[in-house]
Amino acid sequence: VTGALGRTLAAALRGRVESDRPLAPLTTYRLGGTAWLFVEPADMADLRSLAEVLTAERVPVLVLGRGSNLVVSDRGWPGVVIRLGSSFASIRGAPEGLVAGAAAPLPTVANWAARRALEGLEFLVAIPGSVGGAVRMNAGAHDAAVAQHLESATVMDVAGAEVKRRAVDDLALGYRRSAVTSREIVVDATFALPRGEADQIRARMDAYRRHRSETQPGAAQNAGSVFKNPPGDAAGRLVEAAGLKGRGIGGARVATLHANFFIASNGATAQDVYDLVRAVRARVKEAFGVELEPEISFAGEFEDRDRELEPSSR
Ligand SMILES: Cc1cc2nc3c(=O)[nH]c(=O)nc-3n(C[C@H](O)[C@H](O)[C@H](O)COP(=O)(O)OP(=O)(O)OC[C@H]3O[C@@H](n4cnc5c(N)ncnc54)[C@H](O)[C@@H]3O)c2cc1C
Repeated sequence: VTGALGRTLAAALRGRVESDRPLAPLTTYRLGGTAWLFVEPADMADLRSLAEVLTAERVPVLVLGRGSNLVVSDRGWPGVVIRLGSSFASIRGAPEGLVAGAAAPLPTVANWAARRALEGLEFLVAIPGSVGGAVRMNAGAHDAAVAQHLESATVMDVAGAEVKRRAVDDLALGYRRSAVTSREIVVDATFALPRGEADQIRARMDAYRRHRSETQPGAAQNAGSVFKNPPGDAAGRLVEAAGLKGRGIGGARVATLHANFFIASNGATAQDVYDLVRAVRARVKEAFGVELEPEISFAGEFEDRDRELEPSSR
């Protein structure tokens, strides 16, 4: 590592500390630059030490999960990126459900629950995020969301190292939002789950997976739904009705399979995705008077500029 803060962190932590770590491979869009400093705390004690060091620093902090809802700037992240590694990915039983570490992949959690006939988390089976990201975003699908089953979460303040167990009401989970701020790290989450029928749980998971592969371009470079659905409508319907399926900017394109998914191709930049989001918002506003709110988040610096939408290639 280079720089004073990097050296301080490397000396204070047992986990990984790296300068200029490429972030693209850590996101589903596979776009964007490097982290000025990248830190993977080895365990809870390490995470506390990290927060203690950061308390005294004025440095932008980005908590990274599985990067499935994020577009990282081409210029990277000009501060510290914290990613919880495998030591935060354990799942264990609780008296009435389970406790999952923030780094646990959502499909793994869904399968863990299914094997024990615990019902309610089937909807997570095809969401490629982590438990931490899912709590922060109140991830949801198929008329279910984290909020319905979450009992509490352990949350740490990155500037102060205060660790608190917060009940679901205190987390104020709403439609793809929560009270978890960008300076807080979810460390684990406790879900209350009733016992169900193993066969039915499996069948629901299979159906959800099938539905995905038929209706969404899951394997391509994307970060799921680009916009939140406005009240009473579907963002994808509006984008499609504005005639924007297949239209693109640079290497980013509105998916033809589902207009609320924007796909990046080789050679795309994060700025292309940003510009496409901006252009599509403007068109939908113009056509229907609806202001779509992005569901995906952009990390780092982007330029506001108006680029023409290119015609559909198909
Ligand atoms: C193919 C595909 C399908 C998807 N389908 C769905 C869907 O059906 N429903 C849905 O809701 N989402 C969906 N998503 C979006 C995404 O998977 C979810 O938002 C997921 O919860 C994000 O988790 P993550 O770990 O990848 O978070 P990241 O993308 O890494 O981060 C997202 C946000 O959460 C914060 N964050 C991450 N980890 C933590 C943590 N430990 N503590 C505090 N904050 C944290 C980040 O700082 C950021 O603000 C989809 C994405 C893809 C690529």
